[in-house]
Amino acid sequence: MPLPLCRYTPARMSAAPHVAIAGAGLAGALLACYLGRRGYRVDLYERRPDPRAAGFVGGRSINLALSARGLDALERVGLAEKVLADAIPMRGRMMHSVRGRLTFQPYSKNTDEAINSVSRGNLNVTLLEAADEYESVTLHFDHQAVDADLDAGTCALVGPGGERVAVTADLIVGCDGAFSAIRARMQKTERFSYSQSYLAHGYKELTIPPAKDGSFAMEPNALHIWPRGGSMMIALPNADRTFTCTCFWPFEGPNGFDVVGTDAEIVHRFDRDFRDAVPLMPTLVEDYRKNPVGSLVTIRCDPWHHDDRFLLLGDAAHAVVPFYGQGANAAFEDCVALDALIERHGPDWATVLPRLSTGRKADADAIADMAIANFIEMRDKVGSRSFLLRKKTEKLLHRWLSRWYTPLYNLVSFSTIPYAAARRRARRQDRVLVAAGLGALAVIVVAVAALVHWLRR
Ligand SMILES: Cc1cc2nc3c(=O)[nH]c(=O)nc-3n(C[C@H](O)[C@H](O)[C@H](O)COP(=O)(O)OP(=O)(O)OC[C@H]3O[C@@H](n4cnc5c(N)ncnc54)[C@H](O)[C@@H]3O)c2cc1C
Repeated sequence: MPLPLCRYTPARMSAAPHVAIAGAGLAGALLACYLGRRGYRVDLYERRPDPRAAGFVGGRSINLALSARGLDALERVGLAEKVLADAIPMRGRMMHSVRGRLTFQPYSKNTDEAINSVSRGNLNVTLLEAADEYESVTLHFDHQAVDADLDAGTCALVGPGGERVAVTADLIVGCDGAFSAIRARMQKTERFSYSQSYLAHGYKELTIPPAKDGSFAMEPNALHIWPRGGSMMIALPNADRTFTCTCFWPFEGPNGFDVVGTDAEIVHRFDRDFRDAVPLMPTLVEDYRKNPVGSLVTIRCDPWHHDDRFLLLGDAAHAVVPFYGQGANAAFEDCVALDALIERHGPDWATVLPRLSTGRKADADAIADMAIANFIEMRDKVGSRSFLLRKKTEKLLHRWLSRWYTPLYNLVSFSTIPYAAARRRARRQDRVLVAAGLGALAVIVVAVAALVHWLRR
């Protein structure tokens, strides 16, 4: 590692544990709140300028869906109410057929169970403002982590003037997203497992403005889906009465981004696949041209820590594709899990870090797998009759046998049962249902056979 040109010393010298966090996105800013609440000295470094002054410049989605896990994490630091004040509850999926027919599918039998569309930028600013309220937390913008010395326990950053800075702390946490600089250094150590895999699909965001009278142009309390088999578009409502649409299309191929280049091709593609949305998108062609195509990656690594000095959280440890709307929720849940371990063991990082790493890994893997499975479901099955029938059956079972049966979607989105346990429970339920179905079928076959036999006598 190059020699540091200058060295930060913590502003407030005290016996409180000192934690440096790289990345003040959703995970980093919330973690700063959790640690600040404990009186830990926290230095939070973010490569971007301060969004409170400069406005939020996001590389990711404009809005996102927050559900029970994220809200639980916010609630514990007293922020849920503030975040929910600007959120729009989405109580189900609104499917748009090719002919523009709408079918609404509630997420739950309980009408108060909804996922919440929130602005990513506002959420991040709320978290930063909350972190800044703690006296022991210091925010540093325009500071990019570029390297780490894992043995010395230092992190190298480049400051606003291009100066190189070395930070030491009791614990350094990489909350610097899917392309984490801290993780990149850990990848070069022995027995560190790492994998990344991209979907063949990318995403592009577009906008539906409010209707002429200023109201929402579509039903606001729903997540809109245009499933087209192999590709799809979704739309989430925003507090300013716009919708953010996201096209999930293959990069290449007959339904790909690569075959839509000219204005005529853009209009033709939307007229063919998303016709009912076209009149609602007056700036479709400009937006399509202006907005980039993002890629969708799943990242897994193990372990999430190095010795008792470095830890990865959020997307830095486990980036998932967005089809269960759980990436940020899972990142927030990481903060809850870390806080619970600190509650039990204090800043005994040699105990806390491996327990967090091993404890959360199975859950992160489970939600990564479920997110990919949900992509296939949303894209290919959501509009089909058999899917709608299955969802109706699930809802009936949930209503009649609610103590025994809860659909997987509800376990993931409306509970804080660990992801891996939720998946196990759903599989168990499915097995019992299949067995019950086969049993019922066998009884019917035997009864019919008996009846036929009796009639022939
Ligand atoms: C299209 C799309 C839709 C999504 N929808 C949802 C949804 O509906 N619900 C949901 O729960 N999740 C959703 N997600 C996932 C969610 O965005 C992420 O899981 C979440 O942002 C992870 O938070 P994070 O803080 O770990 O990472 P990030 O949000 O990526 O934050 C990382 C931060 O670190 C900073 N940074 C990066 N590198 C450095 C560095 N070297 N030094 C210093 N700072 C650095 C970045 O500027 C950023 O501020 C979606 C993702 C995508 C792509």
